[in-house]
Amino acid sequence: GSEKKVVKKEALVKLLRWHFEHSDFRGKQLEAIQAVLSGRDCFCLMPTGGGKSICYQIPALAKQGIVLVVSPLIALMENQVMALKEKGIAAEYLSSTQTVKTKNKIYEDLESGKPSLRLLYVTPELIATSGFMARLSKIHARGLLNLIAIDEAHCVSTWGHDFRLLLNFSLYLMPSYRKLSSLRNRLPNIPVLALTATAVPKVQKDVIQSLCLQNPLVLKSSFNRPNIYYEVRYKDLLDDPYSDICNYLKSYGNICAIVYCLERTSCDDLAIHLSKNGISCAAYHAGLNSKLRSSVLDNWISSKTQVVVATVAFGYDFLFMFLGSFDPTQGYCPYVYGFKGIDRKDVRVVCHFNIPKSMEAFYQESGRAGRDQLPSRSLLYYGVDDRRKMEFILGQAANKKLQSSSMEEGSSKKSLVDFHQMIEYCEESGCRRKKILESFGEEVTASLCAKSCDACKNPNLVSKCLEELKSATAFRHRKGSSRIHITSASDFKDAEQFSEFWNRDDEASGSEEDISDSDDAVEIAKSVVHSSKSSEWRVDDRIESLQRAEENYYRIKSNQEKQVNKVDKNTISGT
Ligand code: ADP
Ligand code: ZN
Repeated sequence: GSEKKVVKKEALVKLLRWHFEHSDFRGKQLEAIQAVLSGRDCFCLMPTGGGKSICYQIPALAKQGIVLVVSPLIALMENQVMALKEKGIAAEYLSSTQTVKTKNKIYEDLESGKPSLRLLYVTPELIATSGFMARLSKIHARGLLNLIAIDEAHCVSTWGHDFRLLLNFSLYLMPSYRKLSSLRNRLPNIPVLALTATAVPKVQKDVIQSLCLQNPLVLKSSFNRPNIYYEVRYKDLLDDPYSDICNYLKSYGNICAIVYCLERTSCDDLAIHLSKNGISCAAYHAGLNSKLRSSVLDNWISSKTQVVVATVAFGYDFLFMFLGSFDPTQGYCPYVYGFKGIDRKDVRVVCHFNIPKSMEAFYQESGRAGRDQLPSRSLLYYGVDDRRKMEFILGQAANKKLQSSSMEEGSSKKSLVDFHQMIEYCEESGCRRKKILESFGEEVTASLCAKSCDACKNPNLVSKCLEELKSATAFRHRKGSSRIHITSASDFKDAEQFSEFWNRDDEASGSEEDISDSDDAVEIAKSVVHSSKSSEWRVDDRIESLQRAEENYYRIKSNQEKQVNKVDKNTISGT
């Protein structure tokens, strides 16, 4: 399209103040708005809570005509539309949950020469229907379509998330997101704004390609969370980590917190310990039945429980909870729901009782603190035993070659590298915040942290701890240990959750190959659960199970990819 004049900042700030009562734009909002108003495609990477919606809401107000917003979850669309209507902005959403009457009213408005509507939210599934596409084309032909905004744009990418299984499922669940590529051809010369909070570089490339963005302005906001204070404590230097975390939580009063544990048993143990000490607390993990899980969740969301002690599945787990009600025609995307829908904004403390598996995971999990922008804390308990256990497992997995396609090769090695980023975060002196942000490729100035991490606030104390840790580790080394004792198999949650997922979704998957895979997964899950019951479990068994789970995973993944390719081909030949 022809380049238009840049809309002046003053005019846009006026709109922002008038309609949203914010004093000024934040981060890259203004740049994104000016780009799309001048007709340019834009890729916008902002952390959750960064203010992505303003980037398409202001353009909707700056110009006559309609902004189309593609969003994967009806609950989120409803919220946004309601909030906009309260502000007196004409916004609607289209979904299968609405009455025919409501829909017709929206269509009538769209087809009138001068629609009053400014923002129209739709699911990707609706876009994929020919009826809706025809309507859009008509509006487009009249010059009334201003912008197409694609929220949660990482859903178009196979690299949507580093958590392998989810990555897989999001693709599987959201073929309609992949069909969005056709928008470009069907609606030429309309700028496309892609928005995401996923920082994986591959996602960016994939989104830009899949959506056929042309010479897009690529905007990346800092992932810094200035209201979070980062701290690491060293289990090996503490008399009793359980009492330490208990005292820590109590020192802040009756606050809302999430404590992440690697294993279910320590999850249960810790929750019991905290409860005994008067903390309002519950355990949450995939080993609980779904009724119990949702009641724990409900109580936490409604502030009846203040502290949840959870496996990292907390958050991801909603994928499995909502699968039962997953309906592609309605756009329920449990994947997105897990991240956005369930959060309490007033989480004051996120505590990792074990070492997270990667910086990406750590950022996501600790980032659940302080969504309300108020001062919050991330506390990580580092233990040398925890580290060794993880390294051993990851190392063994890396040694075993996987006879799958090239993409998966080295993925275990990558896990080790990812994990070591977390070790550096804990074991090296220097600003913690700097380490987090640099791992996302950000450049960090010395003053950025402003003493908001333990290493910046008390550098001497942290150095002393690290020295003590070294001697403690050396001592342990001499004592030696030829066997690792595994007390729980909850780190096998991949296989277990996988089978759980697969069982619930078997109606949708259909083919016989898939069903045999599902049986394998169930077998693995069973054997894992069984092994976890014996008091000591040999490392070799554990590794073998892990490898079986992985191989199984890759087999299923390649099957799914074949299916998706089939779907893609059908789509092309069908149009
Ligand atoms: P995201 O979609 O990136 O997670 P939202 O668009 O939901 O973020 O915005 C997060 C919060 O930030 C909202 O409460 C919103 O009102 C607020 N916000 C957005 N832009 C601004 C701004 N320029 N100034 C102040 N607050 C803002
Ligand atoms: Zn710092």
